[in-house]
Amino acid sequence: VPAIELDGVVKEYLANGEVVQAVKGVTLSIAEGEFFSLLGPSGCGKTTTMRMIAGFEDPSRGVVRLHGRDVTNVPPNRRDVNMVFQSYALFPHMNVWENVAFGLRRRKTPEAEIKRRVGETLEIVDLVGREKRRPREMSGGQQQRVALARALVNRPRALLLDEPLGALDLKLRQAMQIELKRIQREVGITFVYVTHDQSEALTMSDRIAVMHDGLVEQLASPREIYERP
Ligand code: ADP
Ligand code: ADP
Repeated sequence: VPAIELDGVVKEYLANGEVVQAVKGVTLSIAEGEFFSLLGPSGCGKTTTMRMIAGFEDPSRGVVRLHGRDVTNVPPNRRDVNMVFQSYALFPHMNVWENVAFGLRRRKTPEAEIKRRVGETLEIVDLVGREKRRPREMSGGQQQRVALARALVNRPRALLLDEPLGALDLKLRQAMQIELKRIQREVGITFVYVTHDQSEALTMSDRIAVMHDGLVEQLASPREIYERP
């Protein structure tokens, strides 16, 4: 069973009395454990596609399936995927530990399990020893790791990343690309990655959906794209 399936997914908005099609009919299937990228210029529909996988937007038409289950109209908190935003969305008044534990606390997870899971997750993202820091005392790369930890601690079966490295400078971005690949291999979950950076998509992905104007124009492995661009 594929981890994620989109079947004829369309998203329309009404803007100034006119219908705008942000996504015009996307069909794709992402395998469990795959590192899958949505690549394309600003405005081509990448974020809208991701938000429909996560459940923040309902498709106007079409079906979204996660691990074989039709989730088209299931709310985000009842899907076993998690989304990481470019803006990190950390709580500024909470330290690293509290930021990562927040979701588990809210769901009344037993304290011993919170301790274990937050500890494990901070190890994965290499933030052990930084538990007491607040977001503003950390670099962009470290804040990005906290955001990742916050998504991973729920043990989602898939992680959706929307331009996660967009705010970082080139050097940090390259370091984080390697880190993200390591994390993906270590936790063995499906990654869906939104980027407008072709070289980033080519170095990181198992497969890439190249989007243009609300449609998938090309669906290929990096090797195929190198050979037949
Ligand atoms: P990308 O992530 O590739 O930059 P988006 O998915 O954000 O593209 O947007 C695709 C298109 O849909 C853009 O033209 C955008 O302005 C439009 N769009 C996205 N969300 C909305 C919305 N809520 N209302 C109206 N138009 C929207
Ligand atoms: P990104 O650059 O990360 O794609 P955007 O600034 O395009 O982010 O969009 C941020 C949010 O605003 C998203 O939830 C998107 O759906 C919404 N949005 C984007 N374009 C429009 C629009 N033209 N009208 C209303 N909402 C929009």
